Amino acid sequence: MRIAILSRNKHLYSTRRLIEAGEARGHEMHVLDPLRCYMNINAKEPEIHVRGKILPEFDAVIPRIGASITFYGTAVLRQFEMMGTYPLNESVAISRSRDKLRSLQLLSRKGIGLPVTGFASKPTDIPDLIDMVGGAPLVIKLLEGTQGIGVVLAETRKAAESVIEAFMGLNAHFMVQEYIKEAGGADLRCFVIGDKVIAAMKRQAKPGEFRSNLHRGGSATLVKLSPAERATAVKAAKTMGLNVAGVDILRSNHGPLVMEVNSSPGLEGIETATEKDVASQIITFIEKTAKQNRTRTKGRG
Ligand code: ADP
Repeated sequence: MRIAILSRNKHLYSTRRLIEAGEARGHEMHVLDPLRCYMNINAKEPEIHVRGKILPEFDAVIPRIGASITFYGTAVLRQFEMMGTYPLNESVAISRSRDKLRSLQLLSRKGIGLPVTGFASKPTDIPDLIDMVGGAPLVIKLLEGTQGIGVVLAETRKAAESVIEAFMGLNAHFMVQEYIKEAGGADLRCFVIGDKVIAAMKRQAKPGEFRSNLHRGGSATLVKLSPAERATAVKAAKTMGLNVAGVDILRSNHGPLVMEVNSSPGLEGIETATEKDVASQIITFIEKTAKQNRTRTKGRG
């Protein structure tokens, strides 16, 4: 098959591993920088151009679109979908998952366990907002944040009020969340492909930190999931419409709670912690599903 990887940099670990795994299975792998792709949107023959040349047809496309280029990147992916190329994850599902609040609303509709979460815009609503999530300590999250930046633990009601007021004053969008203390600064990253969790790791925050992000100095180890955790991760990915997803779960004393569903989960942390060949599993999944041309939406919203 001829497979495109939409990625800004072919030297990134995840991109390199996907090229390696694809080539090892006899595929023709091409890395395309989404920002270098431009489009001819017309009724007869939709096209994608790169440096003055029309791209050939691809059988499948693997989107690895960074959060900072979601808008342009999903537009390029949608153009591939219009041309009948099979996307590993569809553009609509990626856009959906990038909106943290919308994602939680969709997950809650399916009855998936979530930390109690509040959202408000007026300073007069702050006291009730804090009560809604069970009071302090609580977590305040900027909706635009990634890799733990913009996630604040407010230990007292006073601190929570001040931070919320400050964010409101800056017109920043944020949500307020119950703090899952019993998670002990750890979370689970469940790597879902299709209807299975194919690898999972536990990420533990460094001492004195509650955020377990590896970018924040957290460490990762192999973990065995409970059946409920597996089922929750698969259901969360399905709810978002993602074939491949990194589902982040907190272990609470009332069961697994989903924090986030990531549409471009990194391979380095999970392959290192689990010693599994995740990249090859992604390629074999594409081999199985792309032939049937199962793009459901063809870019329709
Ligand atoms: P980001 O998307 O920026 O990584 P997250 O929402 O995943 O932000 O939060 C970063 C980290 O903070 C998580 O991996 C988790 O360890 C911790 N965390 C986030 N929300 C909570 C919460 N409600 N209770 C306890 N810990 C949390």
